[in-house]
Amino acid sequence: MALSKAQVARYSRQLILPEVGVSGQNRLSEASVLVIGAGGLGSPVLFYLSAAGVGRIGVIDADAVAWSNLHRQTLYETPDVGRPKAVVAAERIRRLNPEISVEAIEGRFDAANAKDLVSRWHMVIDGSDNFATRYLANDACVLANRFLVHGGVVNFQGQVMSVRPRQSACYRCVFPEPPAVGSVPSCQEAGVLGAEAGLIGSLMAHEALKAILGVGEPLLNRLVVFDGRLSRFREVPVRRNPDCAVCGEHPTINAIQSIESAPTCAG
Ligand SMILES: [Zn+2]
Repeated sequence: MALSKAQVARYSRQLILPEVGVSGQNRLSEASVLVIGAGGLGSPVLFYLSAAGVGRIGVIDADAVAWSNLHRQTLYETPDVGRPKAVVAAERIRRLNPEISVEAIEGRFDAANAKDLVSRWHMVIDGSDNFATRYLANDACVLANRFLVHGGVVNFQGQVMSVRPRQSACYRCVFPEPPAVGSVPSCQEAGVLGAEAGLIGSLMAHEALKAILGVGEPLLNRLVVFDGRLSRFREVPVRRNPDCAVCGEHPTINAIQSIESAPTCAG
């Protein structure tokens, strides 16, 4: 489809990339992405996907904007404190790019809605703030066969990995069991620099845009780990686990089940 004058102006700096062009821009506008969690990772993800012209974006979050979110959750401003994040985030990215369609889902991503929700989108980006949601997102994406971008950040450590179900390692292949409640520090306990959440979230957005455009190589079977203290990236090769509970040879998870686990940080 030909682009309007306004679209050419808006997207000009990516259109001139040979890897994008008009066909890439159309690919972006035909793509749909569900973003789980509109927090420290979700903020840059939602910003860059909407700015790039991803045509249909869903955002699910159950929380309201809190004062303690403002140092890293860049979609929100001080007057937003107390308002539902999914709604504020959707308003913000609609203002940024009125050409795209945005669906705000106020609520928790849980065992009851996980599979139906992910099935409605081409791709899922997990920027959630707890391990229970992280495993749920992984399981739902494997069962519904949806490309997943995973990211996490706590303290000065961040990580990013993508999953192409049954073709590359899933999150559970790498980390078979969720950590027990109370066994790992949460964001609230361990803290995080806002800029580090921004960095990891931006990597996740970049990974999603690359996958939609078919540019380069996705982070499949590669876990990228960022050490914020040394500003050093490390790549950890990972592989599918034949005993994986969800994507292995004899899966024990054949339907979505709720998971009890510790909170993490990302949000
Ligand atoms: Zn697996």
